[in-house]
Amino acid sequence: MPAILPSRHQTPLPLDRLILQQQPSAEAIEMDVLIVGAGPAGLACAIELTRLASRDLHAGESTPDLNIAVLEKAESLGEHSLSGAVVNPRAFRELFPEVGLADFPFRQPVTAEAVYLLSEHRAQRIPTPPTMHNQNFFTASLCEIVRWLGERAEAAGVNTFTGFPVGALLADGDAVRGVRTTPSGLDREGKPGSSYAEPTDVTARVTVLAEGTRGLLSQAYREWQQIGSANPQLYALGVKEVWETRKPLDRVVHTLGWPLPRDAFGGSFMYPLGPTQIALGLVVGLDYHDASLDVHELLQRMKLHPLFRQYLEGGQLLEWGAKTIPEGGYYSVPARHHGKGVLMVGDAAGFVDVPSLKGIHYAMQSGIYAARAAYKELRSGDGSAAALADYDRMVNESYLMEDLYRTRNMRLAFRDGFVVGGIKAGLMTLTGGRFPGKQIPMNGDAAVARNTGNGQSPAVSGPLTISKLDAVFKSGNATRDTIPSHLLVGPDVTPEVADFYSHLCPAGVYERVGDQLRVNPPNCIDCKATDVLGPRWTPREGGSGPKYRMM
Ligand SMILES: Cc1cc2nc3c(=O)[nH]c(=O)nc-3n(C[C@H](O)[C@H](O)[C@H](O)COP(=O)(O)OP(=O)(O)OC[C@H]3O[C@@H](n4cnc5c(N)ncnc54)[C@H](O)[C@@H]3O)c2cc1C
Ligand code: SF4
Repeated sequence: MPAILPSRHQTPLPLDRLILQQQPSAEAIEMDVLIVGAGPAGLACAIELTRLASRDLHAGESTPDLNIAVLEKAESLGEHSLSGAVVNPRAFRELFPEVGLADFPFRQPVTAEAVYLLSEHRAQRIPTPPTMHNQNFFTASLCEIVRWLGERAEAAGVNTFTGFPVGALLADGDAVRGVRTTPSGLDREGKPGSSYAEPTDVTARVTVLAEGTRGLLSQAYREWQQIGSANPQLYALGVKEVWETRKPLDRVVHTLGWPLPRDAFGGSFMYPLGPTQIALGLVVGLDYHDASLDVHELLQRMKLHPLFRQYLEGGQLLEWGAKTIPEGGYYSVPARHHGKGVLMVGDAAGFVDVPSLKGIHYAMQSGIYAARAAYKELRSGDGSAAALADYDRMVNESYLMEDLYRTRNMRLAFRDGFVVGGIKAGLMTLTGGRFPGKQIPMNGDAAVARNTGNGQSPAVSGPLTISKLDAVFKSGNATRDTIPSHLLVGPDVTPEVADFYSHLCPAGVYERVGDQLRVNPPNCIDCKATDVLGPRWTPREGGSGPKYRMM
């Protein structure tokens, strides 16, 4: 059977649509700082800006009257937020020194943890690798964190515009001057319908790209400005469920091994969210080799394992969702994170440490640094890239890059499969990251060939499992059925490629019908997996996509 090379079937980034060398419209809204994305990175940035202004005001200095806007594609704050999550509270403490630990939006402290190596019927407990220790951390729902941060940002005077996806950057030469949002009310053919609303232009002295994983504007900005990285960014797809349970879970659980094939990188998590709720999920690196691998299906299979089943039986699935994670680490971070009028923060810049599965506090910390650089630029800068370069210095000298450096090759070691990768990662841990010393070079996920013809394992069904279609319903997705497609399908989609996409997408957006690919855009829950390996994702009408409450 022929192998599939995903990159051969992808369209290039539509740079002409994403970077507009145009004057803003006459009705453009003017801001000082404009933040794209109300995740932990964007909201921490907004809050730190207000803190800096109020600090100076109290010190009797004349401060600029700051206009800060956060533009978010979800209809309400947190509805597009999904994480594990075990949270390191470090950045919370820095941003809210006056708030006690008990008042942060966490569910419970981590009191115990266990790591298991799974086979189909057994779970062998193994020592917790040092990178996976979670003492002094807290379990949480990212949706709740985002709502809490959003309330604080709004109370401090930040304008949060939800239901406003940004579709393009407005450029003036090589400087970013603002953004243009997507229109809404288009019909299936992309023509204005009866509820059509035009795009809005928003301009700002500084635009902060806080769009999260596989950020489209950050990709476009980097390609336009040719900002490379030592390795391309690598991604994993995480599919997650929140359950109401009868049996309480008393510890944070991680597993390795089954149900993943040996040549795939990943593992599962199961976290207590109070006495009667748990979060569980499966995360798989998108450089897997088998074209029929299906993360949603693997999670359904995994739930039937005795380790998980004992908690789920008699319980109820409350919510389902999926999202990608940038997991390339240190060598995939862009060579610079700033440019003229622009800063990149959080997942959009790849600040995730995968060996510890942590990104939330790094996202917030980078948002805090971005705020400090932006504030300095507003007070004294000249709009040049140099004025914002302080952001790179702060990030590079911080614990953020130090942490990523320590685990720099761990994810990359698994390029050679689970066993060799496990041994290498162990040696890296023992030597504090010094083994093997130099960078392990990687190909981008789309450049990894996929084997076809392995045959797909039959889908599991029955109690505790859920089909992709029902799962999309459980994500709260209420996208209009008549929306035009926001997915750009590339060339030469063979029947095998159509099959590959249908397994890849956790939300059943792609189907092989006969020898053709059928696309159901309204099902999309913005996980971005096919943006990495298949049809490109672009922002669509505001409020489309999932409506997560507990993810
Ligand atoms: C399955 C999974 C498990 C994880 N587990 C953990 C964990 O246990 N602990 C931990 O610390 N981290 C964990 N992470 C990582 C962590 O969730 C991320 O690192 C973190 O959320 C990044 O924050 P962010 O603000 O950069 O991006 P996000 O949280 O992704 O926020 C970005 C926001 O931007 C919005 N947006 C995107 N594009 C546009 C646009 N064009 N216009 C307007 N808005 C836009 C999105 O809707 C979103 O609200 C996990 C991630 C996943 C997927
Ligand atoms: S089509 Fe949407 S839901 Fe499916 S993989 Fe792509 S981004 Fe995720």
